[in-house]
Amino acid sequence: MLFYDYNTFVTLDHKTSHKGQFVAKISTDVCSQCVVNVCWSTDLIPVISKNFVNPDTIFANNQMSLQDIEIYGFDYDYTLAFYSSHLHTLIFNIARDILIHEHRYPEGLREYDYIPNFVIRGLHYDVQKALLMKIDAFHYIQLGTVYRGLNPVPEKEVIAMYEGSHVPLEIMSDFYGKSSHGHTMKQFMDIFSLPEMTLLSCVSDYFMKHNIDYEPVHLYKDVKEAIGDVHVRGIMYRAKYICYAEQTHAVLRKLSENGKKMFLITNSPFDFVDRGMNYIVGKDWRDLFDVVIVQADKPGFFNDRRKPFRRVTDKGVLLWDRIHHLEKGQIYKQGNLYEFLRLTGWRGSKVLYFGDHIYSDLADLTLKHGWRTGAIIPELRKEIKIMNTEEYVHTMTWLQALTGLLEHMQVHRDSASQMVIQQWINEREEMRLRTKDIFNAQFGSLFRTYHNPTYFTRRLSRFADIYMASLSCLLNYDLQHTFYPRRTPLQHESPIWPEQTSIPL
Ligand SMILES: [Mg+2]
Repeated sequence: MLFYDYNTFVTLDHKTSHKGQFVAKISTDVCSQCVVNVCWSTDLIPVISKNFVNPDTIFANNQMSLQDIEIYGFDYDYTLAFYSSHLHTLIFNIARDILIHEHRYPEGLREYDYIPNFVIRGLHYDVQKALLMKIDAFHYIQLGTVYRGLNPVPEKEVIAMYEGSHVPLEIMSDFYGKSSHGHTMKQFMDIFSLPEMTLLSCVSDYFMKHNIDYEPVHLYKDVKEAIGDVHVRGIMYRAKYICYAEQTHAVLRKLSENGKKMFLITNSPFDFVDRGMNYIVGKDWRDLFDVVIVQADKPGFFNDRRKPFRRVTDKGVLLWDRIHHLEKGQIYKQGNLYEFLRLTGWRGSKVLYFGDHIYSDLADLTLKHGWRTGAIIPELRKEIKIMNTEEYVHTMTWLQALTGLLEHMQVHRDSASQMVIQQWINEREEMRLRTKDIFNAQFGSLFRTYHNPTYFTRRLSRFADIYMASLSCLLNYDLQHTFYPRRTPLQHESPIWPEQTSIPL
């Protein structure tokens, strides 16, 4: 019988490794066929990587040189300014109370407080079934990550509901992640949507616990409206919840000192941005920007040619005059990108725009307008720190090794070999769950569903030329730097098994 386990594996790494490869331990009663197979398999086990990733790295999906960039544009929330997690608690509490007071939801909901780290960004929500779930790049639901309320839905039930785990295109969220026009799925892409997802889950949980029959579509709309009210009424904007701005000011100063033009396009109102930027940069923050646009209504801003720019005073008063120039020091509201391009002439790949919302901020710019795009993904920092731990590196190496062994050894159909293979399958399953739980106990990593990229990652790769944990990563590069994407092998470019290289044609 073969004997493999994680500890043996690691111990032997130190004692008997040869050319950096692991050697598997084989107990004495192994059959001769297995000996041959396993001895041979030592070549299949990958080397443990000691190359830890620096969380301040800028990662490239597409080659791009900062030398070519003359104009830098920014979104505001979660791009220039970051917020403490207290803000999420505040949004959750206010929206929960709006449900109780204005939508007549049960008072008992007050028992629920915001649960930090219950959800992750990029999840899909089935509006008809009130289910939250993670979907991969191929539209498959990651089993084990489907939640009704605060509890996981058993795999069998998920498979019965969706007739498998694939979600057809016609019910997936639309291009911008919305659930409109017959799409029953909504994708939550905004960092501000973390409290919204948590509130949906808590209210469902309450209804289920108390056997209250409810209409999931109404629940979704009411929660969406309540959360919207928190933003629209400016309740949130009155609170000072800027926790940190990383080194935003240093980045802006560096770009300015290098003669770069800069602009801001945000959906937030001026007084909110002004208060935040006063805190982050100082009273003279507007001197750094050539154009400032607030309440832009992205993604409509990038698509709808009909909305003209409107000048707004420091006190928030809207002016009626027609806009012929976008002047430095002035504040403009709404408008549209076509008009912006006409008035500034800032077209094409000399412009780099940063935002945290992959659809609202970046998708149209990449697909329609040819600006370069940079995604700010704050979750990267935490995920990279986890990936750099010794435990994670060892687990992943062993997981890959097991997968390799399974792929190769599956041809041995005798019962002794099949028993070993089944043990490997079980162990691999346990390890996959463990690697998921390290990131988030309910939904795992933002970027992967086991070995596949998530739906979020696929679209991140498509819409962002570069991505990074925060704008401060720019401080690590000079403004002549070229970002080169890694040439990751395509499946047909990477022979794994020796026989793949020598199959006779
Ligand atoms: Mg934002």
